[in-house]
Amino acid sequence: MERRLCPKPNFFHMKKLKPFVAATLIAGVLMSVTGCKTENNTPATVSSPTAAVRPYPLNKCIVSDEALEAGKAYTFVRNGQEIKLCCKDCLADFDKDPAKYLAKLK
Ligand SMILES: [Zn+2]
Repeated sequence: MERRLCPKPNFFHMKKLKPFVAATLIAGVLMSVTGCKTENNTPATVSSPTAAVRPYPLNKCIVSDEALEAGKAYTFVRNGQEIKLCCKDCLADFDKDPAKYLAKLK
């Protein structure tokens, strides 16, 4: 029952305070406890590998030339270049001859 992830204040001393002050403090404590829990789950470092990725310039599948459909299109990054396919099945074709398809971007 006891959760010791975050340091707990001593509620005993709050009995000396006026009710609204105590309520404010308790509310603040509850918020800080929640915040502490959130911080513990946050990764220490957040890198942004997409910063150097060149965006995909076409609005069609690089393999089949089919229009890209939202929810069905498959996006991946190859050598810093974002690639979009009309479906994940086209990835196999792309991998057979990447240079041939990448030439479409130039
Ligand atoms: Zn496809």
